[in-house]
Amino acid sequence: MALRIIVLEPDEVLHQVAKEVKKITPNVQKLLTDMAETMYKAEGVGLAAPQIGILKRVIVVDVGDEHGLIELINPEIMSKEGEQFGPEGCLSIPGYRGDVRRAQTVTVKGLDRNGNEVTYTGSDLLARAFQHEIDHLNGVLYTDIAERVYEITPEGEEKE
Ligand SMILES: [Zn+2]
Repeated sequence: MALRIIVLEPDEVLHQVAKEVKKITPNVQKLLTDMAETMYKAEGVGLAAPQIGILKRVIVVDVGDEHGLIELINPEIMSKEGEQFGPEGCLSIPGYRGDVRRAQTVTVKGLDRNGNEVTYTGSDLLARAFQHEIDHLNGVLYTDIAERVYEITPEGEEKE
């Protein structure tokens, strides 16, 4: 396992479309492992491969619910339902947060690290994390779609 360096905005790689993974190699599996380690170290709830400079369609998510760590290769949103509106942050944009409108519930399909097709349906924070991370694979940051972006203090409060 190895920690990877998180790429920060305005790095160009964050605005590019990531490529589909054609074959799950040991390299891709190591990427998943490293991404999870990097996400936990940074205390994030999700990480997409472009955030460590790799333009592959790979994400990890762990919102601390019963699913634990979710690893997804070539994830796709199959359906969206309802709406939620709330604050969102990004490990690539430290010190900021934004109010973002998202679907309340999403169903996501992808491959696990062994190439098996897996499907997850999540609501609330899990749905938000899926949408945020899959946006990363399309070069979209939350700041592109937020209704308002604001600076936060180290404690996570909005700056006056
Ligand atoms: Zn992000």
